[in-house]
Amino acid sequence: MNEKAGVVIIGGGINGVGIAYNLAKKGYTDVVVLEKDYLGSGASGRNGGGIRQQWSTRENIELAIESTKMFEKLHEELDTEFEFIQGGYLVLAFTDEEITQFKKNVKLQNELGLNSVYISPEEAKEIVPKLNILKVKGATFNGTDGIIYPFPVVYGYARAARKMGVDIREHTTVTDIVTDGKEITAVKTDKGIIETDTVVNAAGGWSTEIAKMAGVELPNRPYRHEIMVTEPFAHFLDPMIISFHHGIYFNQAAHGNIVGGIGNPKEYPGINQRASLWFLRTMAKTLVEFIPNFSAVNMIRQWAGLYDTTPDAQPILGEVPEVDRFFQVNGFSGHGFMVSPVVDKVTAELILGETPSMNIDRLKVTRFEGMDLEKEYSVVG
Ligand SMILES: Cc1cc2nc3c(=O)[nH]c(=O)nc-3n(C[C@H](O)[C@H](O)[C@H](O)COP(=O)(O)OP(=O)(O)OC[C@H]3O[C@@H](n4cnc5c(N)ncnc54)[C@H](O)[C@@H]3O)c2cc1C
Repeated sequence: MNEKAGVVIIGGGINGVGIAYNLAKKGYTDVVVLEKDYLGSGASGRNGGGIRQQWSTRENIELAIESTKMFEKLHEELDTEFEFIQGGYLVLAFTDEEITQFKKNVKLQNELGLNSVYISPEEAKEIVPKLNILKVKGATFNGTDGIIYPFPVVYGYARAARKMGVDIREHTTVTDIVTDGKEITAVKTDKGIIETDTVVNAAGGWSTEIAKMAGVELPNRPYRHEIMVTEPFAHFLDPMIISFHHGIYFNQAAHGNIVGGIGNPKEYPGINQRASLWFLRTMAKTLVEFIPNFSAVNMIRQWAGLYDTTPDAQPILGEVPEVDRFFQVNGFSGHGFMVSPVVDKVTAELILGETPSMNIDRLKVTRFEGMDLEKEYSVVG
């Protein structure tokens, strides 16, 4: 006999377990989370832990502001330490176009309630005295941005959701989604069939593959992004430093290690999570350009994960027109962790038919149908 579940969530990353937690918190526990590997094995366990509210689109700014407020309290709610440090984000401009864009970003961020500021290279150096500002033309700074250690957040949600009765299964791969016309009837896995009428696609870099199982085409594409950690040393760096021009970001984590990554503009889409020598060389060279003292520091580990990237670098949320009760929570590019608290809360509200606490209509997949897209500018490509 087949099993039955009210809601099946595909993906055991931050969003899969976060949605399960939010459903359970509202008293709804007829939920199964299916993860093909271990919890956090996707991008949620491979990211830089950056929590940034300095975005260029209204949607990303609003999601990040609300989520940051939620992160400030979440560790108490989940009784888990995440090492959330609000040392700010220093966003560096290297071209005149960036200066114009950054000033526009700050104006919108301020309108939406964020106290970000546009500053000179000299003011940036006051924040990070060891920064090489020779080619820096300007910067923006926001002090409530920060970094978080991602794994305990994933496991904190999972532990709390399980405690309330949610069934979270690792090493269980979804192989098909069965539909009857517009309705979902079941999810097939390598361990059996689960009858359900509600499915959440929180499969990160695999979300396009999952959508196809239900006959839905998503515009997302997975791209490898690489990242590394150095040996630890005495604390000197408070904010995360980021340059879209170089595609680089780095911070000093709670235990003194530098954690950071750099995008490869020549990367092809695809499921590739292998580490490369190109990354090692480019990251080392660029890090030393930013902070010359880094020439004496050893990298101790490098790894890679997937950005699930949409054409406008904003997530895809909510239902799709083709299939009823097939909820999308994907397409987060390089910022799915930092917006997850509010995204997961709103998704739980939508699943339960409640009025969502934030309107996410503009983030539905239907926005890609011939409209002029407002593209997020502030991304590491
Ligand atoms: C190098 C790197 C740095 C990043 N830095 C940041 C950052 O600083 N800040 C930030 O906010 N975000 C960052 N991100 C992005 C962030 O990590 C992701 O947007 C976020 O973790 C997405 O979470 P998720 O739960 O939606 O997906 P994921 O964590 O990718 O989880 C999806 C899960 O679905 C599972 N799955 C796939 N197919 C199936 C199947 N058929 N059956 C069952 N399970 C399946 C996968 O195994 C995976 O565990 C970074 C990403 C990378 C790769």
